[in-house]
Amino acid sequence: MRIAIGGILHETSTFVETRTTLDDFEYDRGIARGREVIERFRGTNVCTGGFLESLERHGAQPVPLLRASAFPGGLIPAGDYAAMKDEMLERLDAAEREGGPVDGVLLDLHGAMVVEGIDDGDGDVLAAFRERLGPVRPLIATFDLHGNHTRRRIAAATAIVGFDTFPHVDMAERGREAGEIIIRTLRGEIRPVAAIHQLPLFWSTPRQATSHPPMDEVIRRLHELERRRGIISATVSTGFPWSDVPEVGASVIAIADSDRGLAQRTADEFAAWIWERRRRWYQGPVSVREALEAGHRAGRFPIVLADHADNTGGGSPGDSTEVLRTFLELGLSDALLLYMVDHEAARAGHAAGVGRTVRLSLGGKSHPVQGPPIDCEAEVVALSTGEFAYDGPMWAGLTGSMGLSAWLKIGGVSVVVVTAREQPFDMAFARSLGIDCRTMKYIALKSAAHFRAAFEPIAGSIHNVDAAAIHTHDFTKLVYRKRIRPVFPVEIAFSRDSPEERG
Ligand SMILES: [Zn+2]
Repeated sequence: MRIAIGGILHETSTFVETRTTLDDFEYDRGIARGREVIERFRGTNVCTGGFLESLERHGAQPVPLLRASAFPGGLIPAGDYAAMKDEMLERLDAAEREGGPVDGVLLDLHGAMVVEGIDDGDGDVLAAFRERLGPVRPLIATFDLHGNHTRRRIAAATAIVGFDTFPHVDMAERGREAGEIIIRTLRGEIRPVAAIHQLPLFWSTPRQATSHPPMDEVIRRLHELERRRGIISATVSTGFPWSDVPEVGASVIAIADSDRGLAQRTADEFAAWIWERRRRWYQGPVSVREALEAGHRAGRFPIVLADHADNTGGGSPGDSTEVLRTFLELGLSDALLLYMVDHEAARAGHAAGVGRTVRLSLGGKSHPVQGPPIDCEAEVVALSTGEFAYDGPMWAGLTGSMGLSAWLKIGGVSVVVVTAREQPFDMAFARSLGIDCRTMKYIALKSAAHFRAAFEPIAGSIHNVDAAAIHTHDFTKLVYRKRIRPVFPVEIAFSRDSPEERG
């Protein structure tokens, strides 16, 4: 058996003004071509790693096309997207000219990719492959938990397998699951059929951590569904509200063996269960000061604050200043800001050198919503070119880059200043500059939940805070133009009279 492997992965925010170009995909080896896909991703905890593992186990031959990923960010220009998609399809043509038709295709996708002029980027990739493959050959895709799934994807794909974890630690496992489904399909053991139920629901990020209530129950029930007779796989997607596209929001997908009615009934039933409990997936805003007070009341350190409105992992610029300003106003010591994206400040630190003091206007340069820059004097404690190796539970075995970086200290507050917007969810970001997170009393991160995998074991308490930034989690503040459905908790209001808990 020969199975082609490829993918373009991007989580696109339509609310930021910058564009995610081909150069952004090429940055830090974000595009792997041909054999490089196998060499780079074999044994890693990403879906492509899982694809390779399952194909190898069954003696199937992988036909690597192209795998491209970039940091979450703004819209992808149409020509840049077309270049990647065309190359992927050309590589498929070349492989088939050389070795005959492939038996099926596995795609590693994200689910919230938006291209200029193409609202459903992932659906466009799937439809292009379906057209090339014809109606029979299996086409299976893996997706992030944060996909905005569409009917077009369900029509094009044989099966869809989404992550079950947030922080995302099951990518290789989901890749193996997709690999098993395609092998069993090709052996004639199963005939997967897919159905979707879209929910008019925006899910609060702090209510999505899959190993904690209330989300743990969602995943438990999902796994119960997967054990039902005739069900091959089930996926819940919490959606990505910062993509203004027609079909934005949460969804449930079920894959049944031969029985489309069963797939649809299963998706409908689980979606109804989620919808009835919609207030459980909502969390109201918490200010930085409120979170610090709650942390002090809990009395355990470090107090970890997730500045989720400036989560670079969601496409935010990473230079919002409210959390740092609050730390400085409160005169905190043993405090760490991980991080501030500010290339001017990083360069100023490098120009001055370790042990020197620099005058800075720090952060707040990308957009007025990110808050004004902070005028300060900072000591340069350490400098780095920004290269590091991930050693936390997510992405273990991969290398990362913060770009030109510096450890700056303003009073008792340490700031990791970086140039690249790689999401700071691993302690290696701080460690690579010589900072031990365990010695801190206060840590603020520009991440929404992924940091939990690495930081939960050392955290005294964790609080998602709502500081001013472009990716606000107060969805009533976002202005949508393309979204077609009224959603909870925006137009479909939160009823205060409801007997269900709000907190
Ligand atoms: Zn995600």
